[in-house]
Formats: sequence, structure tokens, C-alpha cells
Amino acid sequence: MSEIKKNEISGKVRDAGVVGAGGAGFPTHVKLSAQAEIVIVNAAECEPLLKTDQQLAARYPELLIKGLTLTMESTGAQKGIIALKAKYKDAIAALEPYIRNKDNIGISIMPDIYPAGDEVITIWLTTGRRVPPGGIPLNIGVVVNNVQTLINVAKAVDGIPVTTRTLTVTGAVKNPITVTVPIGTSIRDVLKLAGGGSVDLSYINGGPMMGALITDLSVPVTKTTGGLIALPNNHMLIQRKRMTVDNILRIAKTVCEQCSFCTELCPRHMIGHELSPHRLIRAVNYKNIGDPLLVTSALTCSECGVCEAYACPVGISPLRVNIALKAELRAKGIKYQGELGKEDPMAKHRLIPSARLMDRLRLRPWYKEAPLSLDIYEPDEVVLKLQQHIGAPAVPAVKVGDLVSVGQLIGEIPEGALGAKVHASIEGTVTQITPQAITIRNGGAAK
Ligand code: SF4
Ligand code: SF4
Repeated sequence: MSEIKKNEISGKVRDAGVVGAGGAGFPTHVKLSAQAEIVIVNAAECEPLLKTDQQLAARYPELLIKGLTLTMESTGAQKGIIALKAKYKDAIAALEPYIRNKDNIGISIMPDIYPAGDEVITIWLTTGRRVPPGGIPLNIGVVVNNVQTLINVAKAVDGIPVTTRTLTVTGAVKNPITVTVPIGTSIRDVLKLAGGGSVDLSYINGGPMMGALITDLSVPVTKTTGGLIALPNNHMLIQRKRMTVDNILRIAKTVCEQCSFCTELCPRHMIGHELSPHRLIRAVNYKNIGDPLLVTSALTCSECGVCEAYACPVGISPLRVNIALKAELRAKGIKYQGELGKEDPMAKHRLIPSARLMDRLRLRPWYKEAPLSLDIYEPDEVVLKLQQHIGAPAVPAVKVGDLVSVGQLIGEIPEGALGAKVHASIEGTVTQITPQAITIRNGGAAK
């Protein structure tokens, strides 16, 4: 692969505004500019109820393999691994013909456990390599991208920017469905596509384990919106996500038994990271900051939620305590400096079977098919956030009153900054620009 071709791929991906669709939205062109040995397609989709990636892999195998191949070419990787679960039979059957004659690409079947889709755990399960605490996959020669990201990479090279997002809308809605909507569509409009919800429901943006409670249905879908889950207001997950940090800290102080189950089941701890949630709870409860490294290990928490939702027998949330600690540490500019320790020899036996997690979270009644719809919804208005990614917000490249067409650049990466471009997702008129977002109203668009 010549340097010119490599730059060409990452340049087109940059122009198309591709960001990591499965996580915090790291700009993909930066990953593609690095050198790696292995590229992993993270198709684990381990959050209970979500069914987007497995259906996209089954429906668009050619695009997925194209995105993977381009990423391998761009990074110089010699090996591609598609990491998924045996139960995604349609995806496996669809992908197999495309990799049959490729020596350098294979499927890796992962156990049906949570959190198989946490990229650190995906890498460990598929290659045996361990990302150091506070490190990134590139530190051990690996690039991980999820299914939707790689499909967007394949389209980017053909000059098609990211203007839509596919997501599962499920739970206590009338018709659970996996839909594709223009980025910027309101959550309220997306819920209507699934038959709507009722007043006694609450909504989670993302999966039940890692998703956040939605407090305003007018917020728009972004490039990283993971899914929408409707649950009754009195469901345990909703109640838990509503708890304030003060409440959580009070409970931690009064009832933590220091049983250490949270640490024994912490996936990061199992693979040799120092992170030990029971010790962090103790440090917070007793203001024991004697070992500063211990407290900074909160920065290495993946926020998978195992300690909170599964491990703790008395309802404490080490996860939320860690989130609070992280915010404090980041505000002070503190980084974690610890080393990778030994892997727990029992680690693979301690990971949580998905079925057991679903029962523990009382999600069985909401486990439904959410078939992929091929229609693309057309909203009257979209609100495109200027920051849907890690890095600096995009700078508006249009003004109020401009007519825009689908795919037109409306937000540019600031000079010299890490960021991602933003494109119009519907045809129409720019009606508002704020420091946070650009609003486009359907109608009277430029050709
Ligand atoms: S599992 Fe719960 S009670 Fe046990 S140490 Fe962790 S936070 Fe404390
Ligand atoms: S959320 Fe809990 S279990 Fe998950 S990585 Fe953080 S401390 Fe470990």
C-alpha cells in the first residue's frame, strides 16, 4: 500500500465525517492514519435488547467487508477479525461467502457474555492481547471499529458522507423496530416510528447497561446514538438511573460490606488492570487517599455497569462513584500511570452470560425482535449538533437562510483541531445556527 493510497482513504473518511458509531465518536480518519497489525470488526452488540449491528452485518455484508478491507489497507494491518456471537446466524451466513477466499480475514465467535462488546474485552477474547490500563488498542497494534462505522467507511470512499443513523427502538413500545433516520431527527419522532410510547414510560439512549436516561424527547439523534429503549417508570433500571450521586454516595457509606464481588466481576480487573471498585468505594467512604494511584484507577473504568447492575448484592453503584471520581480527576488534569498486572486465571469463567444478565435486569418481557426497516424516514426538521464526536465542535460552513441539499457540508473541522465534519441530512433551509447546532427545515432546497 503506497502512502498516497493510505492518505487517500483517510482523507475521504475525514471528508465524509465518519466517527466511531459504537462509542464516544472518535474521528475515524485519525484511527485510519495510524499503523496497526490487526483490525477487529466489533459486531458483538452485547447490550441486551439492541439489534442494530447484527442486522446491518446480515443485510450489508459486502459493504462491511469493503470497510474492513479499506481500514486494513489504510493502517497496513495484515489481519482482519470479525468478532461476533454464534447466535447471529444470519450475519455469519451473509458474511461467509465474502471471506471464503480471503486468508487474511476470519470470523471469531465470541462467547455470549457481557461485556463482549467493550473493545478492550473484544480484543482480549479474540486475540489474547491486553490493552494496558489508561491505554488504547493501538498501543498493542490493534484498531477496533464497529459495524456501522465500517459501513460508513466503505460509503465514504465512494464520496457518500454520514447523514443517517440506524438504531434499534425497543422495549415498551408498540412495534419494536430497527430504523434508519437522518441525523438530527428528534428522539420524539423516532419513537413514533415504533408506535410511540405512553406517559408512564421513560427512555434510555443506548443500551440498558451503559445508556443514559433521556430527559428531553426533543434532543436529536447523533452519529453515536446507540438505540432507544422504552421502559416503565417503575422499572429497576429507570429507578437506578434516576438516583442522584449524593444518594449513591450515602448508600455506599452506609451499606457497603466490602465483600469485593464488584472487583471479582469487574472485567477490567480480571484482565489485569489495577481498577478495584471495592477499594475505590472504601477510599471514597473514608477519604482514604493514601494511595493516590488507587484513586486515579477510576479513570480506567469502562462504565460497563457490571459492578452496579450485577455484582453488588446491596444495590451500591461503584460505577456512578467512578464516574464522579473521573470528572474530578479530569478537571484537575490527572492521568492514570499504573502498569498492566496479571490476568485472573479464572477470568473467562467469571464473565456474565447474557441470558443471566437479562434475567437479573428484569428485561425478559422486553426482549423482542426489532426487524430492520429499509425505509428512510423523512422528518420536517433536523437539528444537527456541531459536536457529535470527540474533539473540537465543527465550525458552521453555512448561514441562516441558505438552501442546502443532502450531504452538503455544513460544519467544518476547525483549523489544526481534532474533529469531524458535519453534513446536511435533509434537503431544506437553514433556519437557525447556535454555538451547539444547525437547524434545517424541510422545503425550498437547492438543487
Ligand atoms: S459489591 Fe457492593 S457491597 Fe460488595 S464491596 Fe462492592 S460495593 Fe461494597
Ligand atoms: S463499571 Fe464497574 S465493573 Fe465496569 S469497569 Fe467500571 S468498575 Fe469495573
